[in-house]
Amino acid sequence: MTLALHGGDPVRTTHWPLWPQPASEAAQQLTEVLYSGRWSISGPYRGTDTKERTFARMFARWNDVEHCVPTASGTAGLMISLEACGVGAGDEVIVPGISWVATASTVLAVNAVPVFVDVDPDTLCMDPAAAEAAVTPDTKAIVVVHLYSALADMDALRDLARRHDLTLIEDAAQAHGAVYRGARAGTMGRAGAFSMHHTKVLTCGEGGAVVTADPELARRMAELRADGRHQPELPPPLHEMELVTTGTLMGSNRALSEFHAAVLIAQLGRLDRQNEQRAIQASVLEKALADLGFATQRTSDGTEQRTYFGFVIRLPEEFDGIGTAAAGAALSAELGLPVKPVYPAIPASPLYWPGSRRRFDLGAEHRRRIDRARHRLPVSERAAARHLTFHHSALLGERSDVDDIVAALGKLRDHRAELV
Ligand SMILES: *Cc1c(COP(=O)(O)O)cnc(C)c1O
Repeated sequence: MTLALHGGDPVRTTHWPLWPQPASEAAQQLTEVLYSGRWSISGPYRGTDTKERTFARMFARWNDVEHCVPTASGTAGLMISLEACGVGAGDEVIVPGISWVATASTVLAVNAVPVFVDVDPDTLCMDPAAAEAAVTPDTKAIVVVHLYSALADMDALRDLARRHDLTLIEDAAQAHGAVYRGARAGTMGRAGAFSMHHTKVLTCGEGGAVVTADPELARRMAELRADGRHQPELPPPLHEMELVTTGTLMGSNRALSEFHAAVLIAQLGRLDRQNEQRAIQASVLEKALADLGFATQRTSDGTEQRTYFGFVIRLPEEFDGIGTAAAGAALSAELGLPVKPVYPAIPASPLYWPGSRRRFDLGAEHRRRIDRARHRLPVSERAAARHLTFHHSALLGERSDVDDIVAALGKLRDHRAELV
């Protein structure tokens, strides 16, 4: 047997589930918007709640939290969370060393300073001890990420935030529906931001939302995302503009369109079942891989419901000297499924380059504080060099899909010498 990468027969030639998967009600929901005379929240009242407001209510209830403010993206959600919590010019914000670049670029975008800290080598989420060591008098907030849906150590991080009087914000862009000690991901900090981007477990292509228990924070976030306007408690007369102007807070337009909200209303109805299906497949896969000698990403103690945005596999020590890029390419060729290295440590990522944007050139002192070369993240760098991931949609197919993945990893292990 030869590796498929080197011209051998692949383990699998059949297709994987397509993503996204439209809910059957999505077309009807979209048609309703199309003929409603209301394609945006900043449009005239037509006698019914907007799709955006309807989705906000549904998503808040689903998360068991009081308030939800939908946004145009997860990025927009993080930005309004930071700003509504009072994070701004020159404040330090502690962020994990490994995440999607937006976790850190949004901190820069509110003129604050991202301070990267190392992650736990097993969960790949923020290490509370490293976060504690990074606290300075300028620290204002912590943005914690539940990476690939593994939950961060929220007990320790909440305790840390309390002791140092820091704002804890959750970047829950990858963790819709995960549960930690009875609470859904996104509801454990002052605000929790979600992404509904194409890749995410709940998606409308491009979209986002922020949840919070704090009504004043929710109002500020609502105004920040709609040029300083918000929805009134009671609707205006028919065909008059619904949003009201208060002039208390300047915002920007980061609103979710009615079409996107319509898709989310339909898709949310499928999420629990999909999360459950992925978790069942993942637990079978985790056991089989453990037997083969491959560890998988852990989640923190206190996790009551594990979900999966990506499935993460650690290459054992016998793979030292073989890059994750080569191992991922070999697995991708065996399976016909993209298997990629996890995100690089953010300061080393080609996507993270504040110096390329004139808007962040706020003087020599700021330039020094946001310098990428400042950060030392040995655990994150080592973790990034050892882990592979594939998309959650591969867990939405047949039970036998797991056997193919296990077979591909077994083949990879047997042939690893050919990759050096
Ligand atoms: C996707 C993602 C974001 C950004 O969301 P967008 O909708 O793409 O703007 C932020 N943080 C994490 C961890 C993400 O995965």
